[in-house]
Amino acid sequence: MSTATAAAPKPKHARPKVPDQKMLIGGKWVESASGKAFETLDPSTGEVICRVAEGDKADVDAAVKAARAALETGPWGRMTGSARGRLLHKLADAIESHKDELAALESLDNGKPLGDSLAADLPLTLQCYRYYAGWADKIHGSTIPVDGPYFTYTRHEPVGVVGQIIPWNFPLLMQAWKWAPALACGNTVVLKPAEQTPLTALRVAQLAQEVGFPDGVINVVPGYGPTAGAALSGHMDVDKIAFTGETSTGKIVMKAAADSNLKRVSLELGGKSPNIVFADADLDAAVEGAYFGLFFNQGQCCVAGSRLFVQESVYDEFVHKVTAKAKGRRVGDPFEAGVEQGPQVSQEQADRIMGYIDAGKSEGAKLLTGGGRVGDRGYYVQPTVFADVKDEMRIAREEIFGPVMSILKFKDADEVIARGNRTVYGLAAAVWTRDVKKALRLANGLRAGTVWVNCFDVFDAAAPFGGFKMSGIGRELGQYALQLYTEVKTVTMAT
Ligand code: ADP
Repeated sequence: MSTATAAAPKPKHARPKVPDQKMLIGGKWVESASGKAFETLDPSTGEVICRVAEGDKADVDAAVKAARAALETGPWGRMTGSARGRLLHKLADAIESHKDELAALESLDNGKPLGDSLAADLPLTLQCYRYYAGWADKIHGSTIPVDGPYFTYTRHEPVGVVGQIIPWNFPLLMQAWKWAPALACGNTVVLKPAEQTPLTALRVAQLAQEVGFPDGVINVVPGYGPTAGAALSGHMDVDKIAFTGETSTGKIVMKAAADSNLKRVSLELGGKSPNIVFADADLDAAVEGAYFGLFFNQGQCCVAGSRLFVQESVYDEFVHKVTAKAKGRRVGDPFEAGVEQGPQVSQEQADRIMGYIDAGKSEGAKLLTGGGRVGDRGYYVQPTVFADVKDEMRIAREEIFGPVMSILKFKDADEVIARGNRTVYGLAAAVWTRDVKKALRLANGLRAGTVWVNCFDVFDAAAPFGGFKMSGIGRELGQYALQLYTEVKTVTMAT
């Protein structure tokens, strides 16, 4: 295992140098109204990458005004669906031709291994823009036969000015999930990226400008949640807010939406996904899937399979195999070839994860590997495995958002469905079995927005994604996201 200390080998790819960043409002790159800026840090060293204009209420106001004007008086509102689709395709092409630069920027700001940015974040981002580019000219209502001498039809109109708040774990991809459907449907957007990772959002906004999105259609206001984020979610002239982040923050956003203008709300929130391995599964595949499904992206995934239920007859063998894999995981500089796990995004997140590791130890879970920090620079946490975890322990109930695997033992399908569902969350679940009937029974019985069978973390722009229960409201991706970004208007004409 390599570490983040001075002894680590030299990174293969150089870190990009990034100048200080302004924000994009109404087609202009501007400093914040207050003149304030914040630092974005390299999580692998804790050093400052650059300073970024810090948005607050005045900047959000200006961005919303620009977005409103672009919607109502600019060329965007008159643009056909196919023209919007062509712009989205051009944006995808521009992202593709800058993919190495964007991947490096993402890894620099977030800490994820460069290989992951290139293999996962970039292709999924491109697929998302292209998928919705294809939808742009296929968004339409229907004619409805009604009683009486009337002609009735529906129109699917843009919701209007859309506020979007995204987290730091997949900055490029979350931007694509938000922008691609919103723009395909003809809305204008004001995006607030996470304060930890504003850089790729700003770079993609530049590319969007270069490919010809009209001024004001896309606005980016970096800043903090309680200031810029709150101003956006509580704004009287924002028609819809789309948020991805913690459940507790989602509640604040929803309250702000209700207390202002009752804007439409969609939320993609936390999870505590059960990943269930039956004795009849292909055990090696399940070990791979469980390992990937938990440790991918430094464990910073809302869908992470963080409650790993293993059937009792294969429990010991499974625990042995997955622990061996975790022990061999290569932690280190995200720019070093072959590194599988980079730093956590911030000191705050690393400290929070260490708090959960301490809770696991003190509540009696069995620590099999990891449990500590790596090196003395950057925010690295060891891949950690706890076995003999009980349902009531904090590490089995609360979202950790880090490289901490919790393994629980179960007896049979009924029991594991009940225990799997005993959570406030319902984002994702997975089942590993060779028995089709059992797979279907679990897929039906688990209360989660996505159920993976004999796989994990399979995402596609065409497949809807979102949460049951406190994991969210609404579905992103696929045809379903079009509903989030359109208002249905019924027109009835006397004939
Ligand atoms: P995390 O703790 O993992 O950073 P958050 O839910 O706090 O998750 O952050 C997700 C996004 O929500 C970020 O862009 C953050 O700035 C924003 N945010 C945080 N607090 C608020 C708030 N009170 N109102 C609106 N947005 C917020």
